Amino acid sequence: MVDLEFPPTRAAALDRLAAFLPEAGARYEAMRNTDGGPARATTSRLSPFLRHRLLTEQEVVERVLQSHGRAASAKFVQEVLWRTYWKGWLELRPAVWSRFVAARDEHLRSLRDPRALREAEEGRTGIEGFDDWARELVAHGYLHNHARMWFASIWIFTLRLPWELGADFFLRHLVDADPASNTLSWRWVAGLQTAGKTYLATAENIARFTNGRFSPHGLACEATALTEPPVPAAGKLPLSESVQGDAPALLLVTPEDMNPESLFASPGSFRAVVVAREEPSLRGAHARAFVGEAVADTAARAAARYGAPATCVASLDAETILRAASAASVRRVVTPYAPVGPVADAVSALEAALAREGIALARVRRRWDDALWPHALRGFFPFREKAPSLVAGLIGR
Ligand SMILES: Cc1cc2nc3c(=O)[nH]c(=O)nc-3n(C[C@H](O)[C@H](O)[C@H](O)COP(=O)(O)OP(=O)(O)OC[C@H]3O[C@@H](n4cnc5c(N)ncnc54)[C@H](O)[C@@H]3O)c2cc1C
Repeated sequence: MVDLEFPPTRAAALDRLAAFLPEAGARYEAMRNTDGGPARATTSRLSPFLRHRLLTEQEVVERVLQSHGRAASAKFVQEVLWRTYWKGWLELRPAVWSRFVAARDEHLRSLRDPRALREAEEGRTGIEGFDDWARELVAHGYLHNHARMWFASIWIFTLRLPWELGADFFLRHLVDADPASNTLSWRWVAGLQTAGKTYLATAENIARFTNGRFSPHGLACEATALTEPPVPAAGKLPLSESVQGDAPALLLVTPEDMNPESLFASPGSFRAVVVAREEPSLRGAHARAFVGEAVADTAARAAARYGAPATCVASLDAETILRAASAASVRRVVTPYAPVGPVADAVSALEAALAREGIALARVRRRWDDALWPHALRGFFPFREKAPSLVAGLIGR
């Protein structure tokens, strides 16, 4: 069953954006740090839609700027830019994702105290707030940003559990589970992302921003940054391919970008559309349920837009895609660029299998990503300095 809180269609995403717009200015800035619990939203709760691009960052930023102007929108736009920044940062350093996956798997293999991990995940540590968030996450697939920060901090510095297993717990339950935002936020709390700078959750801060709902005892009083071997230097973005020309193609949509209409604006030469759930890459029930329904919505929109038959499939398995290409009589597959993570890995494996059959695969990146990601070279603040002029160039303001 899909969580009713996040109906997985573009129409529902647009409705939520419209309902949130009046709040996106001063009210968001004043309220965004307060976690009112699952029933009281103080933020947009647009993250599952943005994560799978049922809504794009560009259209959300554009609508908020139109409604509130630059000054009053600044806080909200900044938060959306955090997402873009994390995506770009990881894209320039894919080894940080591979390192996380390897360390997580190693911790799972060699876990010394499985009981402590189980108690943390089941919300049975006895720590007020933490236990509630663990259960809230499993039940709803969502936590407020501040609760995610407190939870990660307590996990790392009070319970002294490996951060990679906490990040994994989030990936298995968040409906917006994202390789970049999740991994890099956990690293940030642990003091790895901004070397030496950690995030320490305190009882006072939790009590203040939960309106007194929680005031835990016994939290760590200090947070000493974790350490690691140096992170590889930023590389370059792989080239984005163009879809100019009218050679007939199969459009392949993945859960990384379920809004092909805004990427390939003209009907072009798509003879058929395949929308892949790519279930192996979705580790949690909430995200699987969300994507499971969003594929049907995406297929219907794509079929209407391109006047081509659209089918939904479970995975990016080469045989399925080859069959679809052959049925459409095409030797070219075009897909929205999938950023670092399991879907990108599956697309790479597919590309190799298609190439063996003489079929080319083209990955096409959005202008937003092309313009902003290359600037995720250092910390967020230099990125934020550059962003307004780049965003203005994209949306013509
Ligand atoms: C430990 C930890 C793990 C996280 N894991 C994820 C994750 O897997 N997926 C994910 O989308 N976000 C993640 N975040 C970021 C953030 O908590 C969520 O994006 C936000 O809570 C979503 O709620 P919202 O849509 O109401 O946000 P709003 O405050 O309304 O913000 C609007 C949009 O901006 C983006 N955004 C806001 N804050 C952040 C942020 N700090 N970092 C990155 N993007 C942000 C999101 O796309 C969000 O939908 C994590 C944060 C922490 C501290």
